[in-house]
Amino acid sequence: MWYYSLKNSRHRVSFQEALNKGLAPDKGLYFPESIPKLSERFIQNLSKYEIHQLAFEVIYPYVQGDLKKEFLEEIIQKTLNFPFPLVAIDQDVHALELFHGPTLAFKDVGAAFMAACLGHFQEKNSAPITVLVATSGDTGGAVARGFYKVPQVKVVILYPSKKVSELQEKQLTTLGENIEALEIEGDFDDCQNLVKCAFLDKELQKERSLTSANSINVARWLPQMFYYFIAYRSLIEKSSDKKIVFSVPSGNFGNLCAGMLAAQMGLPVRHFVASTNSNDTIPRFMENGVYEPKTAQTTISNAMDVADPSNFVRITQLHPDFKDLRNSMSAYRFTDPETIETIQNIWKRKSYMLDPHGAVGYMGLERYLKRKNQEPSTIGVFLETAHPVKFIDKIPEELRKEIPMPDVLKDLMKKHKKAQKLSRDYESFRTYLLDTR
Ligand SMILES: *Cc1c(COP(=O)(O)O)cnc(C)c1O
Repeated sequence: MWYYSLKNSRHRVSFQEALNKGLAPDKGLYFPESIPKLSERFIQNLSKYEIHQLAFEVIYPYVQGDLKKEFLEEIIQKTLNFPFPLVAIDQDVHALELFHGPTLAFKDVGAAFMAACLGHFQEKNSAPITVLVATSGDTGGAVARGFYKVPQVKVVILYPSKKVSELQEKQLTTLGENIEALEIEGDFDDCQNLVKCAFLDKELQKERSLTSANSINVARWLPQMFYYFIAYRSLIEKSSDKKIVFSVPSGNFGNLCAGMLAAQMGLPVRHFVASTNSNDTIPRFMENGVYEPKTAQTTISNAMDVADPSNFVRITQLHPDFKDLRNSMSAYRFTDPETIETIQNIWKRKSYMLDPHGAVGYMGLERYLKRKNQEPSTIGVFLETAHPVKFIDKIPEELRKEIPMPDVLKDLMKKHKKAQKLSRDYESFRTYLLDTR
């Protein structure tokens, strides 16, 4: 498969190069040159496939030419090694729980797949590669965990001092081995700025080969299709004539965009709902066709505090016609008080604990199902993207005691932080990178 830059269709690269570069030199996102169609027979027989086989069939065309079948099989084994339960909340409303991975967030899937691919390509490379990640808290943990002990890969994580939760800090700073954490005396923008400067520093790049692992990387985007297929497979086991509506709590829109790609490959999906917090650039766009980002607002579903979602261009590439896009996708926004109320309500009525992001997804699904005159075969699934314990400080106080502490976290909290403190000044970061080569 070839990938082209969305800013210049003549710039084409292989999967491996798209993975290594992240973003095209013209700053365009990479996009597959064609969208493979799965056969109807495959879709009809989905329930007969074991989950790893299913994932293989879905992603193989995207890596063909770069990854041999047996290596892809190994990579999928490493990626999908935790469950993706579908939990019934109401009669036709299900939570697709994506938080059973090592850092309790859906980003574990993309991060693990990307890490395994890079690790594989690095086997043939005698020089180690360094992955630089700036994080405001959540992404860094999933990436660090994904790359943990991958040979020939070093990871340097930059996080803003005192601006991440205790739990997040533990996830970033306690791994050791090939994962180095830098506690930057500044905010997230300072961290991002240091990473940017390093990528522009030609002299430094001669000494140390650098890459990024941010969410627009094709190797993080594409594997997110897996769980849409897995959800469909679980649902048709129960009732075969259902048509699914997926509601996706969205920030940068990578997760939703992966679902829409799965649908274009042939997964039967009736509709997508993009659910956002008050960062509502896309809901406004869906109303009037005008793309007009405002400054990002802080909310309790803070992994979605994105004003200018970088993956949305991929969605408009999948659906260039606005009318067609509106037929495939609706978008709704919800405030923090609505989110809190939903968490309380669902706990009271169903004894199910939503995290703030999942709550936004739930509300989007509910609104869509109520608004449209639904055919009886419609079934709703919202993506529950994080374990509620990760956002326990955002959950109403009286409910916090109801949230179980997963074993992985109990162990994590006992570990000791190891991080190097650095100022936000580029020279000290540069010196650090050169000295720790
Ligand atoms: C990153 C994240 C999201 C948003 O996903 P996008 O792919 O950026 O839209 C939603 N929920 C949680 C918990 C996240 O960490």
